[in-house]
Amino acid sequence: MKPKLALLTGAGMSAESGFSTFRDKGGLWETHPVEQVATPEGWRADPELVNNFYNGLRRQLVDAAPNAGHRLLAEMERDYEMTIITQNVDDLHERAGSTHVIHLHGELMKACSSTDPADPRHIVTLPLDHLDIRPGERAGDGSLLRPFIVWFGEPVPLIGTAAEVVSAADALIVIGTSLAVYPAAGLIHAARPDVPIFLIDPNEVGTPRDRHVHVIRDVASRGVATLIEALRQQPSLHSS
Ligand code: NAD
Repeated sequence: MKPKLALLTGAGMSAESGFSTFRDKGGLWETHPVEQVATPEGWRADPELVNNFYNGLRRQLVDAAPNAGHRLLAEMERDYEMTIITQNVDDLHERAGSTHVIHLHGELMKACSSTDPADPRHIVTLPLDHLDIRPGERAGDGSLLRPFIVWFGEPVPLIGTAAEVVSAADALIVIGTSLAVYPAAGLIHAARPDVPIFLIDPNEVGTPRDRHVHVIRDVASRGVATLIEALRQQPSLHSS
């Protein structure tokens, strides 16, 4: 049996793909307040502005490509049973070849009902020749079509599934997240007390005091290469 790895990734994972993090200068996020484009109140106030914002991000995403970090994680499926829990709404893990990806905060390439965003019957993937959600466009239930994104103040339907994955894992690896957005940040507490935790980030990130965390202070691409070596040194993670 292959050892089970749970990964928690955030915006920093995609930074080297040119897909900017929240706090990057000059990114689309900087010119639009979060309350306007990432809350249900913002949607109700101006659905067209919100759709236009995500239409712009989606266009950036189709031009972006997975980076070496994404690709190395996909290759690790040869040696480990990997589940990636990502806060990212991009599809760069999948495009790199990872097969088990849980999107906690939704998926930019999808659109859904604005009455019940989690209703699977009305979640659609936007094809490359119809990337934009257009003004007045409707979901299958007749409500306005909206981006399939979990906004601030909305429930995170997959958090329970993610916590189960972390608690069943033989190691937890955290990459490129400031651990500032809950409930995702709390997943670190779901790791069993005896399993190693690794964290890759070029900047300092606050971690729980009661857990030893192996910190790799580097960007995702080089950090994942370092991680692969570090995992080889962990006796508890050798395949049986
Ligand atoms: P964050 O912006 O709060 O934190 C990003 C972290 O990445 C920081 O700790 C930073 O030091 C680190 N970082 C920067 N460059 C890096 C690199 N090259 N390699 C590794 N780490 C790097 O992001 P967050 O914690 O994910 O929370 C922000 C929220 O914004 C999430 O909920 C997410 O849904 C959303 N978001 C998603 C995307 C995306 O889909 N790619 C982009 C921006 C924001």
